[in-house]
Amino acid sequence: MKKESANIAIVSNNTFEASKSVNLHHYDISSALQTTLEFNELINIFSSKIKALIPHNSFVYENNEFNLNISQGIVTKYSCTYALKVEDMQLGSLKLMRRQQFEEDELNLLESLLCSLIYPLKNATLFNRALKMAYTDPLTKTNNRTSFDSALEREIQLSHRNSRHLSVIFFDIDHFKDINDHFGHECGDIALSSAANCIKEVVRSSDMVFRYGGEEFVILLSDTDIDGALIMAERIRKKIENHTIAYGMETFKLTASLGVSSLKGCDTIESLIKRADSAMYQAKAKGRNRVQLEAIAVLV
Ligand code: GH3
Ligand code: MG
Ligand code: MG
Repeated sequence: MKKESANIAIVSNNTFEASKSVNLHHYDISSALQTTLEFNELINIFSSKIKALIPHNSFVYENNEFNLNISQGIVTKYSCTYALKVEDMQLGSLKLMRRQQFEEDELNLLESLLCSLIYPLKNATLFNRALKMAYTDPLTKTNNRTSFDSALEREIQLSHRNSRHLSVIFFDIDHFKDINDHFGHECGDIALSSAANCIKEVVRSSDMVFRYGGEEFVILLSDTDIDGALIMAERIRKKIENHTIAYGMETFKLTASLGVSSLKGCDTIESLIKRADSAMYQAKAKGRNRVQLEAIAVLV
């Protein structure tokens, strides 16, 4: 086996029987791995538990399904990488690194120990898939309303603690009822998911998009001040305006009204949302298809 190639850790009952006899470390590792369903914790536990048996300086765990890149330590010359998989389920890849080459018997032991990691990773995958579904709107594949309150609370706390900016964009499709009335509800659904895709294409990967209600979306922009949020809102507005939706033999376009607010020291969830929502309604009142900045409080 080549030491730097990606290997598949294949798990079967036979492998488990064989691995049982290797040593009792499996039991210790397996017990520790049963304590969590967090990928980050699983990989850190695994690395620390095998360190005495297979010394390594650093590791990288990558999982495309959950957009994970968990690493510890610095990149060193020698590595061994395993693509982890059970049945048809991809469980990501784990790379161990160190300054000396890995010996053949170390790699054999590592492959055997990886069997202890496979099923905890499978459980973490199933758990995180269920969690993702519970927090995802099935039509638009954006985050749903259930996840909104907790995400906003977390973001507000983080921003206050780290003195970072946080901005909110309220987005509402203009005259959406007319789309349903004219083309039918199914076409309305297509228009909604295509509007959501337009938003997702414009925002950064760190921004969070939520379906707030029927044809309303909220975008949370962490580390973004009011000027940055206004630029982003205008980009979204233009993207929607320039996008053509095809339905059967017909084509049509949407427009949207957007309101923007930014976190202040005294803000609660409600006050921050309220200002973006009010700004959005002002954009409607001013003629729709526009971005409106929150009202500035006047102190007397
Ligand atoms: P305005 O410019 O003032 O926002 O007008 P509007 O027509 O967009 O707003 P209104 O609140 O009057 O109508 C919203 C419409 O969105 C009515 C509702 O049937 C439709 N809607 C809400 N959720 C869905 C959905 O999931 N699918 C479809 N097709 N329509 C939806
Ligand atoms: Mg609305
Ligand atoms: Mg609307």
